Amino acid sequence: MLKKIEKKYNEIFDNLKSLNEYLYNNPEIGREEIKASKAHMEILNKNGFQVQKEYINIKTAYRADYKGLKKGPKICFMAEYDALPEIGHGCGHNILGVTSVGAGIILKKLIDIYGGSVVVLGTPAEENFGAKVDMAKAGVFDDIDVAIISHPTGRCHKKSSSSQAIEALEFKFIGKSAHAAGDPYNGINALDAVIQLFNGVNCLRQQTKSTSKIHGIISKGGEAANVIPDLGVANFYVREKTTKEMKSLSEKVKNCAKGAAIATGCLLEIKNYEYTFKHLITNESLSNIYSENLIKLGVEKIEISGSDGSTDAGDVSHVCPTIHSYFPISDKELVGHSLEFAQATITKEAYRGMKEAMFAMVLTGIDLITKKDLFQKVKEEFNEMKKNN
Ligand SMILES: [Zn+2]
Ligand SMILES: [Zn+2]
Repeated sequence: MLKKIEKKYNEIFDNLKSLNEYLYNNPEIGREEIKASKAHMEILNKNGFQVQKEYINIKTAYRADYKGLKKGPKICFMAEYDALPEIGHGCGHNILGVTSVGAGIILKKLIDIYGGSVVVLGTPAEENFGAKVDMAKAGVFDDIDVAIISHPTGRCHKKSSSSQAIEALEFKFIGKSAHAAGDPYNGINALDAVIQLFNGVNCLRQQTKSTSKIHGIISKGGEAANVIPDLGVANFYVREKTTKEMKSLSEKVKNCAKGAAIATGCLLEIKNYEYTFKHLITNESLSNIYSENLIKLGVEKIEISGSDGSTDAGDVSHVCPTIHSYFPISDKELVGHSLEFAQATITKEAYRGMKEAMFAMVLTGIDLITKKDLFQKVKEEFNEMKKNN
């Protein structure tokens, strides 16, 4: 088996490497990944997948299917390929996407022998308008048995863990401008409202849980010091361990904004400026299969990852058994969302980590297709989780 995987990998490695470097050199932000999604689709098409572009009407989403000759589970590898403004692939979604594409192509090769089917799903905009949220809502995962994704990280493989639920809140305070020295009494100061919002949130922090995260910036706070600002805008992220707790925390933050609006006499508009993500619930049975395969491949250390970030894979985990693991791209720790992280995605350490993750993904797929008891365990755990969520 491993020989077959290795053989196919060696056949496609140059193409995967070129795809990775092409994305690295052509970073595109969320929902604008025109070149990236096209390049992904080309390689999948060439390798015999049935490719649907602009999947569920999202311009840069795609779905690539391969159905084997024999029946069996449908394994989905989720690909991401969005970059960050200014720092390009500082989150490494170039190599993330390539890992899923490679795993899909290799698993496809084995599926005619063992049965089942494989889907590579191109999921745009993980960083801001995560298309997995739309896909989960649209029922895309309803006929998928498991969804797997592995994300690059510093120096060690990490088990799939949880991620925080997140809501992106924009507060827009509308006041009235006036001469700051001449007739300030005729003005309504929208910057004061923003400052009061921050003060309110800072008071709130004492009464929040240690898992609560509220972080914001002032996006607009006036144009000149001698004019009372008539527009104040603050953008916040609110995160919590579970979606339910996050919603309740969001309400408290909104109340801080409402209080600030009343205190200053401003009008207040609240909107979500990015998508809301649910928390990630790892399917532990699936995660164990993946980790055991990494160990079989000679990986000696698999760390337990933290749960500080947020991802749209969270939404997927509520509709089908999901794992979101991490693979190393360096021999040292890296800071996420940095230029250094982006540069690490095209090193030989990155390709070594990619290969390990890719092989573990393929072997996990084969385990689920060939070992009914393992597959059943994954399904049972998911059904049990659904009762409580
Ligand atoms: Zn990121
Ligand atoms: Zn990322």
